[in-house]
Amino acid sequence: MRRLWPLCLAFVAAVSPAHAQQRLNVVASFSILGDFVRNVGGERVSVTTLVGPDGDVHVYTPAPADAKKIADARLVIINGLGLEGWLPRLVQSAGSKATIVAASNGIAPLKAGSDADPHAWQSVANAKIYVANIRDALAAADPAGAAIYRADAERYLLKLDALDREVREAIAQIPPTHRKVISTHDAFGYFAAAYGVDFIAPLGVSTESEPSARDIAGIITQIRTAKIPAVFLENISDPRLIQRIAAETGAKVGGTLYSDSLTGEKGDAPTYIDMVRHNIRALTSALAN
Ligand SMILES: [Zn+2]
Repeated sequence: MRRLWPLCLAFVAAVSPAHAQQRLNVVASFSILGDFVRNVGGERVSVTTLVGPDGDVHVYTPAPADAKKIADARLVIINGLGLEGWLPRLVQSAGSKATIVAASNGIAPLKAGSDADPHAWQSVANAKIYVANIRDALAAADPAGAAIYRADAERYLLKLDALDREVREAIAQIPPTHRKVISTHDAFGYFAAAYGVDFIAPLGVSTESEPSARDIAGIITQIRTAKIPAVFLENISDPRLIQRIAAETGAKVGGTLYSDSLTGEKGDAPTYIDMVRHNIRALTSALAN
């Protein structure tokens, strides 16, 4: 019977409300970081995400409830690289004493114009750096859990290694001359650099509004000139325009690529790994012969 005691104590500790209160309060600025924190922190952390699934982290307007979330947090995980321009004011107005850690620390940023391109998570190798930074930040905030965070991070990093191989194998199926798409997303620079698929912006088309008939004519010329096999134009909602592009160029019109946000549980990309898998399926089905 003596051997049962430690088990009983462990059980009581696991279910008692006191344990729940001791969970480390972590705020993640947007859904992808929230998923990383959950994978590393497991049961020891309580994760709150400010910009939730399907939200736009670039142009977020914090709600009053967000100040409370920040004020209650021990640790705030942000992307950095200029992504969360709205965050410093929120932290200040919340009077938060939380430690703020940029998960992209140590990543050599690509340029987007004169600024850093913030979308570093689109390379899985970079996502591993995010996860290592998150592991170290959790361990620093909660040293008693350090060994657990290390073990959980190790497991998740192995999954990311497998994911990176999956992406490379999928891209290898696409003939090299086919590895280019027109996309209205400006978020795939790191993916392009890591995996060798060109993301070409549609010429003269605003990403803010629906393209006009004239814009479509321009895109058709661009597709023919550069022999682009597929387009991902998610801000076109008129199916006739999409059909016109496909009919006049023979290019495939791909589905949705997820870049800055996960979807809800029932969507195509509820986790980071789901998101990357969804994107490579969309790309290979549009680009492989
Ligand atoms: Zn973005």
